Amino acid sequence: MVDLKGQYLKINDEINEAIQTVLDSTIFINGPQVKSFAANLQSYLNVKHVIPCANGTDALQVAFMALDLRPGDEVIVPCFTYVATAEVIALLGLKPVLVDVDPNTFQIDIAAFEAAITDKTKAVVPVHLFGQCADMESILPIAKKHSIFVVEDTAQAIGAKYTFDNGQAHSAGCMGDFGTTSFFPSKNLGCYGDGGAIFTNNDDLASKARMICNHGQKKKYHHSVVGVNSRLDTIQAAILDVKLKYLDTYSAARQQVAARYDEAFGNHEAFEIPQRDPKSSHVFHQYTLKINGLDRDALKEHLANNGVPSMVYYPVPLNEQEAYKGVGKFPVTYDLCSRVLSLPMSTELTENQIHTIIETTLKFR
Ligand SMILES: *Cc1c(COP(=O)(O)O)cnc(C)c1O
Repeated sequence: MVDLKGQYLKINDEINEAIQTVLDSTIFINGPQVKSFAANLQSYLNVKHVIPCANGTDALQVAFMALDLRPGDEVIVPCFTYVATAEVIALLGLKPVLVDVDPNTFQIDIAAFEAAITDKTKAVVPVHLFGQCADMESILPIAKKHSIFVVEDTAQAIGAKYTFDNGQAHSAGCMGDFGTTSFFPSKNLGCYGDGGAIFTNNDDLASKARMICNHGQKKKYHHSVVGVNSRLDTIQAAILDVKLKYLDTYSAARQQVAARYDEAFGNHEAFEIPQRDPKSSHVFHQYTLKINGLDRDALKEHLANNGVPSMVYYPVPLNEQEAYKGVGKFPVTYDLCSRVLSLPMSTELTENQIHTIIETTLKFR
C-alpha cells in the first residue's frame, strides 16, 4: 500500500546524516532536534504551539486530559474511523457518543453531530478522515454555541488546508481547541518508529498539555497534575525535521496519483471516486473508492491474486466493536463498511504501477 523504502532511498544521505548527528551527540531524549522540529512544524502549520509526544493515540489522550473533562462527560465521535479516537475517550472514563458520517466525504455528519448534543456533551472530535478536512465551517459555530471543545484528529490529514467562506485558510489540526497527529511510518508525515504531536493556539491549553506529557510536572520532581510519559525521541525528531521539508512534495505526489485514479474510475458505474470538499485540500492519506454493484471482497481478492494490494478502511463500524458497543443507527457507516476499498497510495508509485493497478481493477467483473 505504501513504499517506505523507495521514499527513504531518495533522501537517505540526509536522513543518515541526521541520525548520525544524534548518535554522535548521544542526547537521545529531548535533544535539540525535538525543539527544532517542533518549531519548524509550528511555522509550517502556522500554529502557536506544537507539543511533540510519543504517538497519535497519546496525542489524543493528552489533549483530552488537558481539557479537564469529568468522568461521564460525553464526547462526540464519528462512527466511521480508526479505533484510537474512541479508545482514549473511553480510557479516561468519558463517554464516546458515536454519530454517523457523510456518505460522500466520509466526514462527521453535521446534522447527526448537532442532534447528538446533550447537557453532558463536552467535546467533539472531527476526524479529518483519509486526508481531507471535516466540515469545519459548520462544526466550529455549533461547538461554540454549545460551549463544546473541538479536538481535531489530524492523524491522516497533516498538510491539508481548509479555506473558510471569509477567505481565511488554516491548516488541518489548527482550527479547534486542539489538533492531534501521528507520525506512524505510513502516515503522510511518517517517522521511522512511533511519534505524534499536539497542536494548539491556546497558551493555557499548551502549557497544560506540555505538563501532562512530562509526568504532570512543570518543575522537575514537582507534580501538580497527574500526567503521562509521552515523548518524541530525538532520532525520530531528526528524521521528521528532514522529511517535513518534503511534505508538500509528498502531498503533491499523492494528489497526482489520485488524479490518475479519478480519470480511470470517474466515469465508471461500478466505482464512485472520493468526493472533494471545495473548502479543503485533500492530501490523500487514502484513496478510497465506493464499489457499486460488484462484490467488493471478491474484487479485493482478485487484486491480491494479481499482485495489487488494497485495503478496507474500515470494515467494522465502531459501534459493532466489542469494546465500544453503542446504540444508535448508523446507516451510512454500515453502507461504507460494506462498499469501500482503498487503493495503493504512496509518494513513490510509478506510472507503470499506477497503470497495472487501474487495469487490474477495471478487468474485474
Ligand atoms: C493512525 C491514527 C491514530 C493513531 O496514531 P498512532 O500514532 O498509531 O497512535 C489516531 N487516529 C487516526 C484517525 C489515525 O489514522
